[in-house]
Amino acid sequence: MLLELTDAQRHIVALIREFVENDVKPVANKLDNADIYPHDLVERMRQLGLFGVLVPEEYGGLGLDYTTFALIMEELCRGWMSLSGVIGTHHILIHMLVHGGTEEQKREYLPKLASGELRGGLALTEPGGGSDVQGAMRTVARREGDRYIVNGSKMWITNAYYGSAFALIAKTDPTAQPPYKGMSAFIALKDHPGFKVVQKLEKLGYRAIDTCELLFEDYEIPANRLIGGVEGRGFNQAMSALEGGRINVAARAVGVAQAAFEAAIRYAQRRESFGKPIAEHQAIQLKLADMATKIEAARLLTYQAAALKDRGQRVDLEAGMAKLFASEICLQVAMDSMRIHGGTGYAKELDVERYFRDAPLMIIGEGTNEIQSLVIARNLLKRYAV
Ligand SMILES: Cc1cc2nc3c(=O)[nH]c(=O)nc-3n(C[C@H](O)[C@H](O)[C@H](O)COP(=O)(O)OP(=O)(O)OC[C@H]3O[C@@H](n4cnc5c(N)ncnc54)[C@H](O)[C@@H]3O)c2cc1C
Repeated sequence: MLLELTDAQRHIVALIREFVENDVKPVANKLDNADIYPHDLVERMRQLGLFGVLVPEEYGGLGLDYTTFALIMEELCRGWMSLSGVIGTHHILIHMLVHGGTEEQKREYLPKLASGELRGGLALTEPGGGSDVQGAMRTVARREGDRYIVNGSKMWITNAYYGSAFALIAKTDPTAQPPYKGMSAFIALKDHPGFKVVQKLEKLGYRAIDTCELLFEDYEIPANRLIGGVEGRGFNQAMSALEGGRINVAARAVGVAQAAFEAAIRYAQRRESFGKPIAEHQAIQLKLADMATKIEAARLLTYQAAALKDRGQRVDLEAGMAKLFASEICLQVAMDSMRIHGGTGYAKELDVERYFRDAPLMIIGEGTNEIQSLVIARNLLKRYAV
C-alpha cells in the first residue's frame, strides 16, 4: 500500500474487502453473464453507507474525502466493476448539490441520497454526441411560471431504470453564445409522466446494471429544482463534478487491473508447460513485471489526483492524466491476464474474460481518452505558456 491510511480509511477498506470477498466474488460472474440486476448486493452497499460516502455528515452522509472514495472504488472493482456504477454517477449528483445547490436543496435531497432512499445518476450525454456536449445538446428546458418544461432525449444513462433522481443538464437558453452559458442543471425526479425510460441498452461489459436511453416529453420540473437556483451554471457544475468522476474512473481501472493481475500471477504458478510452471518462463515473467509496474504507476497517479482534490485544488490535469493512464493500462493488463490464462482465459466461467469486457468502458466513460488528452494538453499549454 502506497498511501499512509488513516484508521477510518483502513476500517472502511477492510469492510469493503470483506463484502467483496464474501458476497460479491461468489456471484459476480453468474449475475454478469445472465445480466441480472444485483438487488441484494446493492441493498448491502446501502447498509454499508456507500450511497453517502461524499455527503457531509451534517446532511446524513459519511462525510469522507475523494481519497477514501477512490479506495472504496478500487476495492469494489477488484470484485465486480458494475457495482461501482451504482454509486458512481449517484455521487456526481451529490457533488453538484454539495458544491452548487441551494441550502434548501441540500436539506431536501442530500439526506435521501445518503440513505439510498433516492438513487442518483447523471443525464448529460445525448444521442447526437457525448464529447461535444455544448454543440450536440438538443434538450431544452423552457421556463413557464414556477416550473420548467423539458423536451429532449439522453443516451447511455447509468442507473436510469432503478435510479430515482438525476442531474439533468438542459439548455435554458438555446441561443446563448458560447452555448455553455445557456446550460442549466436540474434535479430530475421520476414524478411526472413526461420522464420516460425508453430502452435498456445491451452492453459488452458493465453488465447487470441499468444503462438506458431517456426521453423527456413535456416533462415538468418545479423551478425550485434548478440546481443553485440560477440559470446558466449547469455546464460548469457538471464539469466540476466530472473532475471527481475521472478520479473515480481511474480508481475503478486500478481495481479491475489489480484483479486481472492477481488472477494471472496465481494461475501462472499453477499452470505447467514444458515441465515447469509457466511462471518460470521468462516471457511470462516479463509480462507479470510489466503488468504490476503499470498498475503501481496508475495507482500513484490516481491517489495523487485524489489527494490534490481533497486539498481543494482544481485537478483537471491530474485527474485527466490518472483517468487516461489507468484506463489504458487496465485494458492492456486485462489482455495480458487473458494471454497468460491461454484458452482458459477466454472461458465465460472465469472472471478474466469479464475483466477484459469491463476494461473498455473506463476508456470511454466520463469523457473519452481522446478528450482527456485534449484536456491534458490544454492544461499543459496554459502551464507552459510562452
Ligand atoms: C456503459 C456506458 C455508460 C455511460 N453512462 C453515462 C451516464 O450515466 N451519464 C451520461 O451522461 N453519459 C454516460 N455515458 C456516455 C459517455 O460519457 C459517452 O459515451 C462519452 O462521453 C462519448 O460520447 P459518445 O459516445 O457520444 O462518442 P462521440 O462523442 O461521438 O465520440 C466518438 C469518437 O470520436 C472521438 N472524438 C470526439 N470528438 C473528438 C475531438 N474533438 N478530438 C478527438 N477525438 C474526438 C471520441 O473520443 C470517440 O473516440 C455512458 C457511456 C457508456 C458506454
